[in-house]
Amino acid sequence: MENFVVSARKYRPATFDTVVGQSHITTTLKNAIKSNQLAQAFLFCGPRGVGKTTCARILAKTINCLTPTEDFEACGTCESCVSFQKQGSMNVYELDAASSNSVDDIRNLVDQVRYPPQTGKRKVYIIDEVHMLSNAAFNAFLKTLEEPPEYVIFILATTEKHKIIPTILSRCQIFDFKRIEVKDMSGHLANIAQKEQIDAEQDALDLIAQKADGGLRDALSLFDLITTFSADRKITYQSVIKNLHILDHDYYFKITDALLAQDTPLALLYFDEILRKGFDGHIFIAGLGAHLRNVMMCKDPSTVKLLETSEKVKQRFAEQAQAASASFLLSALNLASECDLHYKSSKNPRFYVELTLMKMANLGQVIKWAENPVVVQAPAPETAEKKKSEPQPSVGENTPQMVEEVPTQMIQGAKLERVEKENPKTPILPKVNVNGQVAAGNGTAQPVNKPFTKQDIQSALNEFKTVLRNFPQDRDKARKASEYLLGGKVEIKEDFTIEFTFDDEAKTELIDFYKEKIERNLRNRLENQALNLKVLYEYVEKKKKYYTPYEQFQYLKEKHQKLNDLSDRFGLEVDL
Ligand SMILES: [Zn+2]
Repeated sequence: MENFVVSARKYRPATFDTVVGQSHITTTLKNAIKSNQLAQAFLFCGPRGVGKTTCARILAKTINCLTPTEDFEACGTCESCVSFQKQGSMNVYELDAASSNSVDDIRNLVDQVRYPPQTGKRKVYIIDEVHMLSNAAFNAFLKTLEEPPEYVIFILATTEKHKIIPTILSRCQIFDFKRIEVKDMSGHLANIAQKEQIDAEQDALDLIAQKADGGLRDALSLFDLITTFSADRKITYQSVIKNLHILDHDYYFKITDALLAQDTPLALLYFDEILRKGFDGHIFIAGLGAHLRNVMMCKDPSTVKLLETSEKVKQRFAEQAQAASASFLLSALNLASECDLHYKSSKNPRFYVELTLMKMANLGQVIKWAENPVVVQAPAPETAEKKKSEPQPSVGENTPQMVEEVPTQMIQGAKLERVEKENPKTPILPKVNVNGQVAAGNGTAQPVNKPFTKQDIQSALNEFKTVLRNFPQDRDKARKASEYLLGGKVEIKEDFTIEFTFDDEAKTELIDFYKEKIERNLRNRLENQALNLKVLYEYVEKKKKYYTPYEQFQYLKEKHQKLNDLSDRFGLEVDL
């Protein structure tokens, strides 16, 4: 195997033009060189690995170049450039303040500053991580920084600008390096891949660039890492996901689709799959938040540019944005950020994420209600009373309850906004007759409650069975209920009333326990808010068999009063 040189070193830019993603800085520096108005002290600020030291070295090399190009770049061939490239130039002096931050280190540097360069024009002193210098070292340095000899240029670099004292800040020309954008970075990686004859998928490079979070050095080490792992000099999206243990964005698209389709079970199953692959629930919910944010950004053409992904993925985001309403996205983002915030303090984090997904899956329904508020006539006094005694969910409450209530403030907010916007004089609630039809002559006339068949009920129940089976609370009870769910007799009565009849008391009781959840689910699935569920028990007389003479005698006594009297009077017993 040939000598392996890490890409970060092998492909370190040698001219201003090849610096990635910092054109605002390289252009200014080149102009300063051109007009011979170079400052004597610079402060390069910005995150790690974005090219601060690289730019400092290029600057040193360029101003010492004996035959610069017309474009004021270093030629790369003259004596000075060659010695720079061999790292043997006496005109550049680097000090890493993270490791050498004592007064002595600085005194040593200040001593050197006194001697002019023997060859070339300028001496460049680069002090990296300058915020790490001790106070005494700072003070020792200050005098030199105030009045440097003509032939000296200081370049101070730091990742923490706020730690630099004002006396230093005021003496330097400040350059803020920015995080390198994903497209610049993946473009650079593609270039390297081509030179190294590595077959790399664009999506894979984008993903590496995203993971590096703006730092090119990190991106290059990830790139090297994955190349080392791949046997056939190929970098695929799948190999990056596998090697960096990243959750495939495909999952977020699929889950969001499920949430938009109000398919709670599917979303929960995907989440389970993700957990089983070894991903952490917290990473998942944070990722889902980021995904929803991207979808939201695609709602408006002006914010699409805030997406740092490839065109292909951007297209997918745009398609999902078309399918999702802004109200849905905003509420779902709220829920995701809430879950992210409280995840650590939750006693059952898995369930907390599941609850959040359930709420998200119900958003569509809630938004529909909020936009088309409907008054449903109370079906029966008994139910109405029961509804009243139900505890109202308080706003902003996070305690995980097995109730799919969606934040009430959302409903109210949406309702108010709509009414004010469209027609402040319209009564908020249109009247609806028993059949769920909005009364005629009322702006928003449309059928609200869809009719349904037994078949519809059965298929809705079939789906709900899966949800019930995976209920995180009272698992055994819920599982049992899911088994009985389809075992009852189903009948549709007037006014959208459905009767479930069971011939077993225990089963009836169990299904009745989950009645409200079943009812709510049916209402959503069948798009009928007037739907009313009754769980009934029907006693079915079973022919009992009497085996022992004692049982037979008891039966006869019960059936025939006279025999009973007779046995009492004479104290009759069965002869065993
Ligand atoms: Zn040169």
